[in-house]
Amino acid sequence: MIQLIDVCRVFHMGDQAIHALNQIQLTITEGEYVSIMGPSGSGKSTLLNVIGLLDRPNSGRYLLDNIDVTDLSESDQARVRQNKIGFVFQSFHLIPRLTAAENIELPLILSGIDPNERKKRVEAALLAFNLIERAQHRPAELSGGQRQRVAIARATILRPTALLADEPTGNLDHRIGSEVITLLENLHHAGTTLIIVTHDRELGLRAHRRIAMRDGSIIADER
Ligand code: ADP
Ligand code: MG
Repeated sequence: MIQLIDVCRVFHMGDQAIHALNQIQLTITEGEYVSIMGPSGSGKSTLLNVIGLLDRPNSGRYLLDNIDVTDLSESDQARVRQNKIGFVFQSFHLIPRLTAAENIELPLILSGIDPNERKKRVEAALLAFNLIERAQHRPAELSGGQRQRVAIARATILRPTALLADEPTGNLDHRIGSEVITLLENLHHAGTTLIIVTHDRELGLRAHRRIAMRDGSIIADER
């Protein structure tokens, strides 16, 4: 369970303070499917980054599975992130010199899983995400949809309880974007908590719970 209490995130630009998150109260329980919508600059990415332990609030608390993770050290946060959270980005964030299979394998290497188990898991992921024929290709040789499938496979290879996606279809045409959302929804059906930031209203409306943001605040939260 994800629980944000009075979370604020302020950025300072010169002598200007930007309140990217303003006293956010938010609870997301395991297995939910949530979309976050709102205009550019409303704080969606900042919210997702805080939830994903990629950024810290300036004030307020973050409880993850009832453990206060707000003030964990970088390395403790990294450990929690590795076990509980997968992250997918608009621009894929794949490593260019690694093949699709190697990109997917990387989290397994970083978490010390042995080579036999790694091979099995990567093969299962390549199969699940329809990437067998692209396994030995580098990101530059893949289409946008294939790149995002590699990114999703990498984000879920350690079986996180929550998958966070920041505009995962932002660089894809509508049809491919819709296919990517279907893949994410399949992971949700298998039990993963799914949180998607999107500009695409039609995709956002597919979520069971829809959060709207504006100026760093949650202005609507409907089921
Ligand atoms: P969204 O994802 O909804 O477009 P963001 O969360 O990226 O919005 O940004 C919210 C606000 O915080 C914006 O005004 C943005 O300019 C500002 N902001 C975000 N990240 C930074 C940063 N690293 N430094 C300064 N300002 C930032
Ligand atoms: Mg954003």
